[in-house]
Amino acid sequence: RPRIGVLALQGDFEAHLKMLAQLGVDGKAVRLPEHLEKLDGIIIPGGESTTIGKLMVIYGLDEVLQQKLREGLPVWGTCAGLILLAKETDNALAGQPLLASMDIRVRRNAFGSQRESFETDLSVSALGEAPFHAFFIRGPSIEKVGPTVEVLATLDDGTIVAVREGTFLGTAFHPEVSGDTRFHEYFLRIVQSVNR
Ligand code: GLN
Repeated sequence: RPRIGVLALQGDFEAHLKMLAQLGVDGKAVRLPEHLEKLDGIIIPGGESTTIGKLMVIYGLDEVLQQKLREGLPVWGTCAGLILLAKETDNALAGQPLLASMDIRVRRNAFGSQRESFETDLSVSALGEAPFHAFFIRGPSIEKVGPTVEVLATLDDGTIVAVREGTFLGTAFHPEVSGDTRFHEYFLRIVQSVNR
């Protein structure tokens, strides 16, 4: 059974832990550097990327986690977690601690006040035929992707909202509140592909 960490400094980590439990997986709340030992993968949840970033520094997690990601630890960032994984962000995050692991540029709070939060059905071929009902909660958009990044889903207007780069996964929305476990299962397949 894979051991999946969920960064539990701030944000909706509980919902991810519940999803993992539902799938029969050992979810581990990660708050301290030693909690990063012996993980097969890690999820960085939604919340406030600035707060999570600052807490990562305070708890001494940022550099250790960055190193683990460089060594290939599979990671999935949802919403704020996706922002933390991006190598490039808009200026709104200038000076904020980021893990800077994925070759993407994100724009924070990209959907403005009118569409701050919305739900929509996404077509995600990696998950099969049925559309994935996605909850966007003050989410970012992905404005640019590097050559090694695979686009998994876009909105109707072409805005990129889910990406994969090797064993790194990023979603601008919140699959952990959807009741649909397919994105979590997809991440677990990525984790398993590394561990055998
Ligand atoms: N707006 C938040 C941020 O910029 C992300 C929101 C979320 O994770 N639901 O960090």
